[in-house]
Amino acid sequence: MKLHMVDLGTQYQKIKQEIDTSIQEVLDSSIFIGGPVVNAFKNHLETYLNVKHVIPCANGTDALQIALMALDLQPGDEVILPAFTYVATAEVIALLRLVPIMVDVNPDDFNVNLDEIRKNIGPKTKAIVPVHLFGQSSQMEEIMSIAKEYNLFVVEDNAQAIGSDYYFADGRVQKAGTIGDIGCTSFFPSKNLGCYGDGGALFTNDDRLADQIRMIANHGQGSVRYYHDVVGVNSRLDAIQAAILNVKLKHLDSYAKARKSVADFYDSAFKEMSMIVTPYRNQHSNHVFHQYTMRITNGRRDVLKAYLDSVGIPNAIYYPVPLYEQKAYNSFKGSVQQLAVTELLCKEVLSLPMHTELTHEMMDFIVNHVKGFLAS
Ligand SMILES: *Cc1c(COP(=O)(O)O)cnc(C)c1O
Repeated sequence: MKLHMVDLGTQYQKIKQEIDTSIQEVLDSSIFIGGPVVNAFKNHLETYLNVKHVIPCANGTDALQIALMALDLQPGDEVILPAFTYVATAEVIALLRLVPIMVDVNPDDFNVNLDEIRKNIGPKTKAIVPVHLFGQSSQMEEIMSIAKEYNLFVVEDNAQAIGSDYYFADGRVQKAGTIGDIGCTSFFPSKNLGCYGDGGALFTNDDRLADQIRMIANHGQGSVRYYHDVVGVNSRLDAIQAAILNVKLKHLDSYAKARKSVADFYDSAFKEMSMIVTPYRNQHSNHVFHQYTMRITNGRRDVLKAYLDSVGIPNAIYYPVPLYEQKAYNSFKGSVQQLAVTELLCKEVLSLPMHTELTHEMMDFIVNHVKGFLAS
């Protein structure tokens, strides 16, 4: 049986006609940068997310960098982020000569911990970057009130949770990524809303920030061409990627359903296995399962991984090393000796194949091998 961590080939075959037509329209128009197709995608995504401004860009890492540039921070300003995340979140902070303050996460949903945020706020703290890891939102309502209390910006790294709903205590519902000052996402092919190359976007409800973001993403150029008001970057979503995203956005909710049914299947198969902690589903958001990441608590994560590799079952460790233990980020370790939850998760997490094209036969094969090995 041929298994994949993510199966974009089979998914494409099912929407081939729509995708090919959409790409062909771009080829026929020969408008490859900007233009009506990119604009249509921007509008569709604004409607889907119910957010005032979507600004497409070249990738998710750029989105994070542009977001931080738009906040006009000064070198040496501190930005709080979870230590258990993909490197991109810390990278852009360090690149801008800001100081990443890496804090611990919750043992249940793996998202940034509120007490740890509070503990690490100091006179130089200017922003918090919560990461909605593996497909469910951080505690945004509480994070926004901490930010208000200390006058901090909030930039959501929503690369893994696009489409997830956030439930406020008063019953209001808002899409993840649209709650902070700025939200960022990635359209990397394997993300929940992925294109067939690189892509990303920023979201904001703030008109002034939206203008700033648009300007920074376009070489710092304001409304008059060849006049540059700030130092910017070149970061664009191209029209062919937008054409693909226009099709895939229509399928995003059904894809989320397919992912959730895979998660439900895995969950029920592992119910009796005391050494497997299946993904916790927090109360304040719905999980769109970018990853199905379980914890193997009996110390056998690495041998299980080796076994799955040997029988051809794809699997991955997201993430094997706390950010502050990465060579490039060692100098930012500061007073942090060890973040207990982050350290534990790096030793225990294992992600199984998660995508829209898994059949019952495939899932049976996967869970039987996992259970058989751990029971032996
Ligand atoms: C994928 C990802 C990014 C970066 O997106 P790219 O499009 O690959 O630059 C940033 N943060 C998180 C959490 C991600 O998963």
